Amino acid sequence: MKTSLFYNARIFPSVHSHPFHWLIAQNGRVTVLGREKDEIPRLPIEARFDLQGRVVIPAFGDAHVHSLWAAKAFMEIDLSGAQSLAEALNILKESKTRYQPGQWVVGRGFNKNRWKDGVPARVLLDRIFPQNPVYLESQDCHSAWVNSLAFTNVGVKENTPDPPGGRFLREPEGAFSGLVLDRAMERFKNALPAPDEQQLLQALDRFVGQLLTNGITSIHTMEGAQAFSLWEKYFLRFGRKMRVVFYFPQEEMDELIKSGLYSGYGDPWLRIGGIKFFSDGSLGSQTAAMRQPYENQPDNMGLLLFNEDELLERVKRAESHRLATAIHAIGDRAVQLVLKVLQQTAALRKQHGLVSRIEHAQLVPPDLLPLFRQYGLAASMQPIHIADDVEIADRYWGERSRFAYPFRSLREINVPLAFGSDAPVAPADPLKGIFSAVFRKSRFQLSKPTWTVEEALDVRQAVQAFTEGVAQAADSSAFQGSLLTGKWADFIVLSDDIFNMPAERMLSVKVEKTILDGSIVHAV
Ligand SMILES: [Zn+2]
Repeated sequence: MKTSLFYNARIFPSVHSHPFHWLIAQNGRVTVLGREKDEIPRLPIEARFDLQGRVVIPAFGDAHVHSLWAAKAFMEIDLSGAQSLAEALNILKESKTRYQPGQWVVGRGFNKNRWKDGVPARVLLDRIFPQNPVYLESQDCHSAWVNSLAFTNVGVKENTPDPPGGRFLREPEGAFSGLVLDRAMERFKNALPAPDEQQLLQALDRFVGQLLTNGITSIHTMEGAQAFSLWEKYFLRFGRKMRVVFYFPQEEMDELIKSGLYSGYGDPWLRIGGIKFFSDGSLGSQTAAMRQPYENQPDNMGLLLFNEDELLERVKRAESHRLATAIHAIGDRAVQLVLKVLQQTAALRKQHGLVSRIEHAQLVPPDLLPLFRQYGLAASMQPIHIADDVEIADRYWGERSRFAYPFRSLREINVPLAFGSDAPVAPADPLKGIFSAVFRKSRFQLSKPTWTVEEALDVRQAVQAFTEGVAQAADSSAFQGSLLTGKWADFIVLSDDIFNMPAERMLSVKVEKTILDGSIVHAV
């Protein structure tokens, strides 16, 4: 039996408790918590850790990630931070050593509209990568920047006509500029080699490393069987370094039912969460389903992906087979539809003890708020997206955006808030998410106005949504989310006392140690 003592700390088993001074973890569980005056029990303690007076809180969870996609993002060059062409070229030069001659170089995230010092050109890539085909996708995924070898590789020549719905942009004299648009990208995409399993496992390990560094020991991932089996292999090869709950895509529901799998099935490391459905699109592409048209787009009310009967039939099938549902709904019409469906299955969930949830719930007008509570749902939300969404929401939703990200309204009526990041869409970085939930600023800039101050949380509430809330949304509060005796010994040591400092400094706080299952898995 492995027994460790963590002492000289200020340990908050949950955000509202008085701090303890020391903690004993045995076999991966919290077994004793004590205050300064309490005597430490005489146990054969194998390891003692002096935490130097630091604040300790339960480890963070992330209620919404895409782990395989996030891992793959580590295999590509990330150009999203490039503010100029020169910066982009520098990033490319620095990554050059990672590639063997002939290997495809893949990257994404560049935004040429931000660049004032030049445009993406084929010849610039040729200079850096004369021996590699290069494919770099733009941030909005509607164009790609490629080099000469890429054209050769996919067999597109100067006399090749543009495909329907796409263009190979050309110089005035006919040579390719290096930008290809929309359907013209397909030739290149199809030529990219699928990564082999070893590469994927390595990449997944990099993602896990990032999560542990950011204090996350538990994720809910929205992915299917392929990712599930990759995680099994990952645990065999790299050890158990993350707790993973799976929400399978609706297309795989029948497979799960056939296998007799249900929510909660699994072990402390890999568990079935339920089935993920989509009910609408997104705000960024103005496809989220709205009750009223988008501002200045009188004909556009977004897209519902199901009507009520279709969605009800599927949700019923899932929940009657003891599979909880996690339903993506961003616009108010989608949220309304999903609530209407989940109302009709409330009895099923009660019967099977299921916690179902709405993913994103970005626009929830006041008339819909109480229904979350009434039907026993959790709200899985991503405060970090506020940093990118303020301007877009104000532009496309206008006045309505005051009902966007209604954290406090939901909290006040005791709806479990489960925070996450949607990584790799946004970084899985809870401290940034907490900052966003507390300040609600565009681009994390304190000088910007607070976006609907009435919906801001305080630090404790935001931490709770990244700990207890995440556990509640996957019905795992019995094991995690707090550090009460008997729960998993997953906790983090912070560089600062986040409960007693100006919250403005949140972005400079570091996770100094991450403890998973009673063992230190990250330390600075
Ligand atoms: Zn997502």
